[in-house]
Amino acid sequence: MKQVCVLGNGQLGRMLRQAGEPLGIAVWPVGLDAEPAAVPFQQSVITAEIERWPETALTRELARHPAFVNRDVFPIIADRLTQKQLFDKLHLPTAPWQLLAERSEWPAVFDRLGELAIVKRRTGGYDGRGQWIITESNQRDITDDLFGEVIAEKFIPFDYEVSIVGARFKNGEKRFYPVTHNLQQNGILRYSVTDISFPQQKSQQTQAESMLGKIMDKLEYVGVMAMERFVVGDKLLINELAPRVHNSGHWTQLGCAISQFELHLRALLDLP
Ligand code: ATP
Ligand code: MG
Repeated sequence: MKQVCVLGNGQLGRMLRQAGEPLGIAVWPVGLDAEPAAVPFQQSVITAEIERWPETALTRELARHPAFVNRDVFPIIADRLTQKQLFDKLHLPTAPWQLLAERSEWPAVFDRLGELAIVKRRTGGYDGRGQWIITESNQRDITDDLFGEVIAEKFIPFDYEVSIVGARFKNGEKRFYPVTHNLQQNGILRYSVTDISFPQQKSQQTQAESMLGKIMDKLEYVGVMAMERFVVGDKLLINELAPRVHNSGHWTQLGCAISQFELHLRALLDLP
């Protein structure tokens, strides 16, 4: 059986390793600073638990490795600019947005997006870091060095947030978990609740599967991907994607016959 190398050796990599164990799949989470020669690339499929990484001896080697699954998808999703462009190209609803390239654009931004804008770093933000809520009165908080490096998004007064985790296999087949309702505190995910008897569940599930399915097909993606969305009345707006296993899918470890971690390995190795 093939083995799997995971770029990154944090929690998600360890959970992938744990999922591989009963299947006899050896999973090696690898730290970014690992010596390339010490990593068992031969006979390995390569995946990642993160969407963006600094240049190191290891990541330089990986960036051109043919066994790195979804290698060319990571940079598209890791940059909010190209990620939002993808939604627009596929006509998928998302919060109105634009690149913030120069200070002189502020009046036009407020005209277009309304009085509250969320400014987000194009790359490297997580758990709500690298984000600012901006009005006309605090626009100086966006310092000169940030222009070009951030996008501005309309502030969405959503009812609640949901996500879906799904996987695409090499032959285009897809599998999805039930949509979960996510509760964040200070930008950090605290609870994910799935209730398949929830009245909106069925319509949200159908829509979410079709949207994430369209994205994964377009990218010819293989493996698990997550999509976060805002629910506003009967509208659903995509917030962002994660090209990997996701914290809103951790419940599948105990709640499903096949967890998101096992599903990712099955898709990568083309197992049933
Ligand atoms: P995480 O790593 O937790 O997924 P993140 O730092 O990648 O977060 P986002 O998911 O874009 O960033 O934003 C974090 C949270 O901020 C969202 O889950 C949501 O609660 C809030 N938020 C983001 N964008 C908007 C918006 N346009 N309008 C209102 N709230 C927003
Ligand atoms: Mg998020």
